[in-house]
Order: sequence, then structure tokens, then C-alpha cells
Amino acid sequence: MADTRKRVLLAAPRGYCAGVDRAVVTVERALELYGPPVYVRKEIVHNKHVVTTLQKHGAVFVDETDEVPEGATVVFSAHGVAPVVHDEARALSLRTIDATCPLVTKVHREAVRFASSDYDILLIGHEGHEEVVGTAGEAPEHIQLVDGPDDVANVSVRDPEKVVWLSQTTLSVDETMETVRRLRERFPSLQDPPSDDICYATQNRQLAVRQMAADCDLMIVVGSRNSSNSVRLVEVALEHGSRAGHLVDYADEIDAAWLEGVSTVGVTSGASVPEILVRGVLDYLAARGFDDVSAVTAAQESLVFALPNEIRRDLKAAGMSDTMRHDGGFVESGSLH
Ligand code: SF4
Repeated sequence: MADTRKRVLLAAPRGYCAGVDRAVVTVERALELYGPPVYVRKEIVHNKHVVTTLQKHGAVFVDETDEVPEGATVVFSAHGVAPVVHDEARALSLRTIDATCPLVTKVHREAVRFASSDYDILLIGHEGHEEVVGTAGEAPEHIQLVDGPDDVANVSVRDPEKVVWLSQTTLSVDETMETVRRLRERFPSLQDPPSDDICYATQNRQLAVRQMAADCDLMIVVGSRNSSNSVRLVEVALEHGSRAGHLVDYADEIDAAWLEGVSTVGVTSGASVPEILVRGVLDYLAARGFDDVSAVTAAQESLVFALPNEIRRDLKAAGMSDTMRHDGGFVESGSLH
């Protein structure tokens, strides 16, 4: 196949969302402000490169709050935590900075509100995912997990007239709607969440992939295996017509055999992925003749969240800027906004 037919479709939006950007900058600023070590409960965001870069600068990632020494600083990850984790931190006199994405906090609030009205809450999400554990922890007696359409048959509720569904923020839109459809077959009075729980960033990244998938012989999604929204992008690409699809953390994970007989490669990245890793993939492809790159733009994004209040207060007191920044940090994000 002639090189001239080789091309790349580059999805937009891709990569960092506002919640990831805020969480990563929070850890960077905490390291500058308090000095290392700064403890982080769980991976701040699900990306190998981000985690290893922050580790090099003094972030210490732990699985549980009791691994943090008494009185130390701990950052809670973008995925959110259950109230019990805040209690544990208080008991250890930890200085806490909560980097939970505000869009995850919104789902927590919905859960609390429906639980206080004594609803059965059907939380659509992936078993064991940190976000789901955190949300379910807001009202464990009222929430049951529904892990995809096939799990609907296992649901039982106290009163079919008082049931609401909520969801993890990073799910496949299509699959979630199928789960809701089956739930509604069983519980016709099922109430919808007050607003979309699947967040704008997840929806926009899936939309861009849907728009270009049918034109792609291969879709390369940059992202880590434990990143829910990145894994979903590969699934969406395959469901919408891409002949093949693979998830890679780094360009050197691309198998040259994937490119055999391929003329159009789609490239995108999950919401926790710094743009530098996408550039690595584009360089790899360009070196193999795929240097004709066109953007496929499904949406414009401009959302930026303020840093968590706890760190803004301390930054101000130290005479440091308390605004979000998109350069000069340890992790080169190349963020889109
Ligand atoms: S993917 Fe969505 S919910 Fe998760 S951190 Fe990003 S904006 Fe927030």
C-alpha cells in the first residue's frame, strides 16, 4: 500500500479532563507547599505515567488511610472516597486534601439525597472500582451495584415505586442506557438521576471515537488498563466499526504488526492521559509513514475547576498563587484547555 494513503484521524477532545487536571495539579502544589512526602490515597488518577512522575517528586501512594503516618498530609484521589475514609483520616489527625472530582461529588450528593428520602438506589458501575466504592459508601444500606445489563436480573428492591438509578461517571453511554432499559422493564417507575452522571469528558471522548471509528482500520487509545474511561474508548471504537482497537500506555507498546495493511489509524486518549504520551504515539506513527494527521472534533471543552479549598487556603497563606495552572508542573500535561 502506498505511503500516501496512510493517515491518522486524531480525536478531539481527548486526554485530560477538568477533574484529572485539578487532581494532578493539587498533588504538585501540595509537594511544593508542604515538601515531600505527600501521601496520596490510591492512584491520584488511573495513569501509570502520571503516578510514576509524581512518585519521583516525592508523592507516596498508599492503598489505605492507615498506611499514612499520624499527622502527615494525605490527598484523596479524583475518584472520591466514602465518608468512613474521612473519619479514619480524622482519627489519625491527618491533614487531608480532597481532590475528588466535583462531578463525582455531585453523584455522592445525589446518593445522600435519595437515601434520605428512603429510595432504593441502583448504582450502575463496575464492581470494585474506587469511584463506585466511594459512592456506595455514602449510603450502603440504600445502594446496590448493577454491574452492566446482565446484572439486572439479580436486582431486588423493597418498593418498586421508589427506585432511582445513578451511575459511575466513566461508563459507556450505550451500555448504560441498555442497563437502564432493562431496569425499567423490571421497574417501570424507575426514576432517572436529576442530571447526567456520566460526565461531560467521558461522553465527549466517546462521541469523537464514534464519529471516526467506521473510517478506521485501527484505533489506538492511549491510557492505562485500570482507567475505566480509556478501556471504554476501545470498546466504543470496536462497536462503531473500527476494524481493530488497542489500549497502550506508551508508544513502545504498539506492535508493528498492528499496522500491516492499515491505511487509517484513529488516535485518542483517556481522560487521565497527559498529551505528551499522545505525541509519542503520533511520532511513532509518523516514523512509519502515518504523518498525515487530521483532527475529528466532536465537542469543544473549556471547563476548569478551582483547586480544593484546603490547598487554596494554605497557598494563599503562604503568599503563593492559588489558581489552576497548566504548565510548570512535574507532569507535562499539554492539556487541551
Ligand atoms: S472523567 Fe469526568 S468525573 Fe472523572 S475526573 Fe474527569 S471530569 Fe471528573
